[in-house]
Amino acid sequence: MFLTLAGASVAVNSAVFPAGTIPAQEEGAIVRKIGLTGWIFIGILLGAACGHLIGKPLLAVSQPMGTVFLTLLKMVIVPLILSSIITGVAGIGDTGRLGRMGAKTLVYYLTTSLLAILTGLMIVNLVKPGVGAELGLAPLKEEIAAEGTGVLDILLRMIPENPVQAAAEGRMLPLIFFAIIFGVFITRVENETGRPVQSFIAGVFEVMMKMTRFIIHLTPFGAFGLVGSIVARTGFAPFIPLGKYAACVVAALAIHGCLTLPLLLRFVGGINPVKHIKAMAPALMTAFSTASSSATLPLTMECAEARAGVSNRTSSFVLPLGATVNMDGTALYECVAVMFIAQYYFSHGQHDPLTLAQQTVVVLTALLASIGAAGIPLAGLVMMSVCLHAVGLPLAGIGLILAVDQVLDMCRTTINVWSDSCGTVIIASTEGETGIKVRAGR
Ligand code: ASP
Repeated sequence: MFLTLAGASVAVNSAVFPAGTIPAQEEGAIVRKIGLTGWIFIGILLGAACGHLIGKPLLAVSQPMGTVFLTLLKMVIVPLILSSIITGVAGIGDTGRLGRMGAKTLVYYLTTSLLAILTGLMIVNLVKPGVGAELGLAPLKEEIAAEGTGVLDILLRMIPENPVQAAAEGRMLPLIFFAIIFGVFITRVENETGRPVQSFIAGVFEVMMKMTRFIIHLTPFGAFGLVGSIVARTGFAPFIPLGKYAACVVAALAIHGCLTLPLLLRFVGGINPVKHIKAMAPALMTAFSTASSSATLPLTMECAEARAGVSNRTSSFVLPLGATVNMDGTALYECVAVMFIAQYYFSHGQHDPLTLAQQTVVVLTALLASIGAAGIPLAGLVMMSVCLHAVGLPLAGIGLILAVDQVLDMCRTTINVWSDSCGTVIIASTEGETGIKVRAGR
């Protein structure tokens, strides 16, 4: 299934756009050449330019455009998260039968994602890019912030009294809790009544991925509307803190990718990190340019097997699962982004400072959001709502960070794929594989 998704998601980069005056064939070629990333940049630049030149009157057009885009994103969140988490957890449940390797893989995924999140949390708490920032976000609605914030409150809120009601109210934590348990138990019903349910939900997941991709194609319009509204309302002031926030994400990703993972490679797997990065270079460059772990998957497998010498048995198990479940870069980014938005509201006196308990919730939800995120461009942005909602922050922050999300997506996807590849070779090495070509000291 993952390979099918991988093939399909390559199409994301060839955005389809409304017809202009250019002849259809030529226009198609131009549209494809620019690609989704290019169109989003154009949307951002046009939005910024129009916001600056036209000012407040632009809001009449840009605000509805931004709102429609955000609402479409919200529309897919509940079914996407439910089906994605159930399918992912059921996948892990299946692999549980693979015994030791399944357990090692799971431990690796969770450990590296947590280390990544903690790196992000440390940097964002040190730099505080959101404190005192002028982001021009609408004031917080009282009722959202008023929910209890103690550990016990949060834990109690995680258990849904009624999952349907939680879904209707958009309360993500209880929904995720339900999805995880459902995913675990779905693999326990092995007869002909259980299997159709599992494949039905896997089917729903694929449909939701297609819908999400369609909505992501509309990002250039959304970017125009959201960035245009920000600039029309507040000028270019928000871009300085946004730049600081982006720098925090990139710095934390660099620490995780260039320090933490190489240390694990060297000391847990006995692997030479430089040799391994050279072996994986084609996959990493593809991840950077496509911003899609799933689209990169065939190449990641090819590099891991042919260039790093991992067996097909290990790579075909660890990598496809990792492409959707193990996203260190995405987890780190979720955490930094939520903290950035929280710092903004806190320093404007509209939100209590995030308590230790709430920061723990941010860490946990960032982990869950990264597990739930699909391996396609901007999926992390879609999942952001889970983390924001968990600590009582409004989704409007998503519109803001969208302005710099393209570049961050490319960087975090590279780290996602890098972490998957490190996991494969570490697991292969600890399983005693002899064909590994990137060992230290050879
Ligand atoms: N684009 C990322 C990936 O495919 C997911 C994300 O948006 O964070 O790995």
